[in-house]
Amino acid sequence: MTLTSHEFPLPNKLAPETLRVIPLGGIGEIGRNMTVMQYNQDIVIVDVGVLFPEENQPGVDLILPDFEYLRDKWQKVKAIILTHAHEDHMGGVPYLLREAPHVPIYGSKLTLALLAEKLKEHRIKSDLRMVKEGDVEKIGEFSVEFIAVNHSIPDALALSMKTGAGTLIHTGDFKMDQLPLDGRITDLNTFARLGDEGVDLALVDSTNAEVPGFVPQEKDIAPVIESIMSRAPRRVIVASFASHIHRVQQIIDAAKQNKRKVAFVGRSMVRNMGVARDLGYLTIPPNATINIDDIENYADNEVVLITTGSQGEPMAALSRMAGLDHKIRIGDGDTVILASSLIPGNENSVNRVINGLTKQGANVVHSGNAKVHVSGHAASGELLYFYNLLKPRNVMPVHGEPRHLRANAALAIKTGVKKENVVITADGMVVDLHNRKAKIV
Ligand SMILES: [Zn+2]
Repeated sequence: MTLTSHEFPLPNKLAPETLRVIPLGGIGEIGRNMTVMQYNQDIVIVDVGVLFPEENQPGVDLILPDFEYLRDKWQKVKAIILTHAHEDHMGGVPYLLREAPHVPIYGSKLTLALLAEKLKEHRIKSDLRMVKEGDVEKIGEFSVEFIAVNHSIPDALALSMKTGAGTLIHTGDFKMDQLPLDGRITDLNTFARLGDEGVDLALVDSTNAEVPGFVPQEKDIAPVIESIMSRAPRRVIVASFASHIHRVQQIIDAAKQNKRKVAFVGRSMVRNMGVARDLGYLTIPPNATINIDDIENYADNEVVLITTGSQGEPMAALSRMAGLDHKIRIGDGDTVILASSLIPGNENSVNRVINGLTKQGANVVHSGNAKVHVSGHAASGELLYFYNLLKPRNVMPVHGEPRHLRANAALAIKTGVKKENVVITADGMVVDLHNRKAKIV
C-alpha cells in the first residue's frame, strides 16, 4: 500500500515571464523530495523521492509525493532531473513513470546506474540521459547547468536553471567536505560565478540548518573504525546505508589493514556495491572480499560483514540477525558498528535492534558512543558560507521539517537576504518568481 499527501489549493493561472515552483514533497518533512518547475508551457521536475513510513503507519510500504497537480499536465513535462541516487530523491521514479512513461530522466553516471537497477526490478524501460558537472542542457525553455556537490553518496549534482524569469539554484542535498575520498568537492567557484551573474531564487537544503559549525570530514571516521576493528576479538559487523559508497570504502580499507576479509550482506548492499565497483566509484583490493556463504571457512577474527539495516528496518539483514531470523548468528564477543545516522522516527526500531544484538552478546558501537558517522548535509557554518558566495535575491528553504526550514531562513537573513524575500512553504504550496521577486500565490 502507498499513501499520497494531502490536497492543495489550485493556483492562479500562470502569468507570462513567471517561473512557478511547486514543492510536492520534502517541505515540512524529511523525505519524498520533489519539486515541479513550470515556465510557460514547459515543466521540469527535480527529484521524485519516497518517504518511509513510521511505526504508527502499519501496512504502508512507502509514501509518495502527491502527483495530482501533474495529472492533466503530463504532456508538458519535459524532464525529470535527479540530483542524486538516495531513495528520498529518486525512489518514486518508477511510480511516476507508470503515469508518464515518455518523460526523459537526467542524472549523473552513478545516479542513473542505480536508477537503472531499480527500474529493472520494476520492469520499466525509460529514456535515461547522462549528464555531468559543467554540462549545460537546453530542456524546453529551461537552460540547466549541472554543478558538482559533495554529499553522502558520490556523483551528486546541484542545478542552475535559467528561464526568462531569471536564475534559480537548487542545491539538492549537499555539504562542503573539503577533503572527500574522491576529491570531488562542492564547486564553490561555479556558485561564486553564478552569484556574480545574479541568482534570483535559491532552493537550499535545510536538513542541518540547526547544527552549529561545520560537518566533520568523512575521513575522520577511518581511524575510529580501524581502531575498533583492531581491538575486536571476534567478528565485526558494520551496518551502513547501502548507498554510502565512501563509508563502505573506508570499512573495506580498515578491514584490509586488519587482515580481515569482507562479505556484503543484504540485497541492496550487494547490488549497489557491485554497481559502484563496476563503474569505478568503489575500489576493492584483490582477494579482499568473500561470499557470505564462505565465512565459515575463516576464523571469527578474520571476517568483517558489511550489512544493511542501520535504521532498524524490519526486513533488513541486521534486524533479522538481532531477531534470530537470519542465517548469520551473532555470538558472544562479536562487535557490531552502526556507522550511520539515526533518522528521526526510527529510534524505537534501532533501539530494539541494539538490544537484540546486545542480548546475544555483541558489543554494539554507534554514533551515540563513538565517532562512527558524519552527516551528509551542510551545517549552519557551511550554509552561511554558501549564502555569502551565492548572494541570492530570494531564498526558499527545502528538505526539512518546519524547524529546519526556519533555521535555514534565519541563516539566509543573517547574510543579508531580505526577510520579505525568504519564502517558507509547505508541500503543495505555489511560489511564483516574477520580476525577481518570489512570492507564495
Ligand atoms: Zn541525499
